[in-house]
Amino acid sequence: MLRFHNYDIVFQEIPDEVTLAVNITGCPNRCPECHSKFLWADTGEPLNEESLSVLIGEYGSAITCLSFMGGDQEPQEVNRLAAWLRQEHPRLKIGWYSGRQDRDEAIGLQNFDFIKLGPYEAEHGSLKERTTNQRLYRVEAGGRLEDITSRFWKKH
Ligand code: SF4
Repeated sequence: MLRFHNYDIVFQEIPDEVTLAVNITGCPNRCPECHSKFLWADTGEPLNEESLSVLIGEYGSAITCLSFMGGDQEPQEVNRLAAWLRQEHPRLKIGWYSGRQDRDEAIGLQNFDFIKLGPYEAEHGSLKERTTNQRLYRVEAGGRLEDITSRFWKKH
């Protein structure tokens, strides 16, 4: 079962969207310079249809997107909840921030609008750095992945 530590409304993690970001615990990735080690332990409230309904009910039309931040220990469950969101809240875009290099095959592209891949590597920096190893993809029609990482980079 997935659990979450907290949630927040964020404006930068998914470009052009007002995103309810849900921070999932039990992260198995152990990135050496992780800034969020509190997400390593399997603690927090259960993340399921019920808790998602409460969160979405709280923010209503103020959000345009919901993003699962983590969940690499159970990608099939992230996918299942995303499919449920698609059906119950078709107005919302759906994102997933994974710390893995490759997309897990349990993730069905039809259930997501945005997918971020890649562990945090301090020497390469976060998504905001041009040197980053991480990538944010927008899922286009037919499941094509468009790399939109450059949207995070400041124009010179
Ligand atoms: S994926 Fe994120 S939370 Fe998990 S270890 Fe890496 S930086 Fe930390």
